Amino acid sequence: MILATGGTIAGSAESGTQAGYTSGRVAVDTMIAAVPGLPAIARIQGEQVANVGSQDMTFAIMIDLADRINTLLGDGVADGVVVTHGTDTMEETAYFLNLTVRSKKPVVLTGSMRPATAVSADGPLNLYNAVAVAADPDAAGRGTLVVMNDRIHGAHSLTKSNTTSVETFISPINGLIGTVNYGTTEYFRRPVRRHTCQSEFSLTGVTSLPRVDIIYACADMPADLVDGSVERGARGIVIAGDGNGNMNAATVERAARAAKKGILIVRSSRVPTGKVGRNVEIDDDHLRFIASDELNPAKARILLMLALLNKRSREEIQRLFYAY
Ligand code: ASP
Repeated sequence: MILATGGTIAGSAESGTQAGYTSGRVAVDTMIAAVPGLPAIARIQGEQVANVGSQDMTFAIMIDLADRINTLLGDGVADGVVVTHGTDTMEETAYFLNLTVRSKKPVVLTGSMRPATAVSADGPLNLYNAVAVAADPDAAGRGTLVVMNDRIHGAHSLTKSNTTSVETFISPINGLIGTVNYGTTEYFRRPVRRHTCQSEFSLTGVTSLPRVDIIYACADMPADLVDGSVERGARGIVIAGDGNGNMNAATVERAARAAKKGILIVRSSRVPTGKVGRNVEIDDDHLRFIASDELNPAKARILLMLALLNKRSREEIQRLFYAY
């Protein structure tokens, strides 16, 4: 089953070489028709779940997507699912599905960096490869995957690294899950962190998620951003810290004050690779902070939102950051 949500893979421009285009214009059946050879690798059906640029992706769409995938895979309607998606927030949806889909069957996100109308559009081969991975029994049990530019990434590790290049996704800490070349797959590893069937998160009865904000740290940052988030009802704040999850002393002080009131403060990093460890330059034990470990700010936010759906202690939430 191919579930389409929009993105550049469904984008169109006036000419084949212009930089400007509109995401989410082409319908799923047109996208499928543009990829000869698909019927030879799988029996395909397409469904339009949304048609947005992924900068407009919402948790309402993500929840619908997870519900639909759980039904399709759980009822045996599909042996695998491909989700077409914009690349801007693809890592967030992939990680969300990694935690909320309850099936070992393959779930594979794909997209493109060039619109469907571009010279050398990358969408058709990405879609072909994504279907090949979703149809491959060997892809099962590896969590939600992202297939782009012949690479197979795991949802926990991948991140977008280039604004325009077709080689934009990288898995900097743990490396690739595998590669796929014109439909031929090769796997290198299984994800180490918990996902899908081992996940303790449930969307049953969930229609919205608690507010968690991200604050980007920088030199001489204004500390009152923390107060602004708290006043607007954030139940958690992820600091996209400098270096190993750092922030200036004024922000540490405001964040500690918020943490004392029960707001969950997670220290992540604006640096694209490396872990954020506890009690390195900041005394997390004393200040009641949580370290994001391997999760970048956008994924740390998603984990914290799901964690806040149930009553959990700060220690318990820190454990989740090591486990997922
Ligand atoms: N802005 C687009 C999106 O995320 C970019 C892309 O798909 O590559 O929908």
